[in-house]
Amino acid sequence: MELKVGSKVCGFTVTRIREEKEISGRLVEMTHDHSGAGLVWVDNGDVNKLFSITFRTYPENSTGVPHILEHSVLCGSDKYPVKEPFVDLLKSSMNTFLNAMTFQDKTMYPVSSRNEKDFLNLTSVYLDAVFAPAILKNPNIFYQEGWHIEQGEDGKLSYKGVVFNEMKGALSDVDDFLTEEMISLVYPDNCYGVNSGGDPAVIPTLTYEEFINTYKRFYHPSNSLVFLDGAVPLEKTLTMIDGYLSNCGKLTDLPCFEYQKPRAAERTVDYALAESEELQDKGRLMAGKIFASCEDPVKSMAAAVMFNALTDSND
Ligand SMILES: [Zn+2]
Repeated sequence: MELKVGSKVCGFTVTRIREEKEISGRLVEMTHDHSGAGLVWVDNGDVNKLFSITFRTYPENSTGVPHILEHSVLCGSDKYPVKEPFVDLLKSSMNTFLNAMTFQDKTMYPVSSRNEKDFLNLTSVYLDAVFAPAILKNPNIFYQEGWHIEQGEDGKLSYKGVVFNEMKGALSDVDDFLTEEMISLVYPDNCYGVNSGGDPAVIPTLTYEEFINTYKRFYHPSNSLVFLDGAVPLEKTLTMIDGYLSNCGKLTDLPCFEYQKPRAAERTVDYALAESEELQDKGRLMAGKIFASCEDPVKSMAAAVMFNALTDSND
């Protein structure tokens, strides 16, 4: 199919095309006519075909609501009403990648396969998961993936939950714990300062109602960005995506956040040691600084390389 700026294709309009030597192909940008969602296609003929949908998810607290949503939407949907479609796909599809990730400011759902039929099936399962998840009708998914109270054999009550347990494990790592403390100090005023994965001390304050309201606010077609890579069957893929993106009206007030104004601060925190560990020489010092904004990728990349070389290994 001949694509040029202004071309209308399966509910989308092509807005920009760039030949890019670096990716051995062209970068095609489109906007979905009905919802305003963005789409980027790396058209480089790669036989490995990738679909990814990402939502802006800006948390206001450390209940881990974006992370619990990431887990929960993959626990069944209208068209795929099985308990664990994610686990089924891991076992039965020919995927070359299948996962979901929660970042501090976005949640991403990527799948890929070299087989066209498999690629379309994976894309269909993921689209249905994010736009028609079973969580809307079944609160038990939230309690299972987020948090609930269980009685142990000794009669004692304790918090359990997939994300709750996962984050308890993650924050028992001293480096991760101190990094969370550091970013909350550097970003006291926006989503970057809270723990999007969830702080086990805060996770149990999240209610099912707040969970569903957060889903409705962020998992809207207008708040999504689709990324395609490789030799995808373009018309079939876009038609499938259009079917989901055209379901709702256009959102006019998209989620946004304020840039953090740099400010000086310091904090001393305690961390736990195993009983077998000596107390001696366990003090740590961390320093953090806002270096560049995301709109300055060259400076950000240079900083990452420099900090890696200076401090990221024992050498
Ligand atoms: Zn997780």
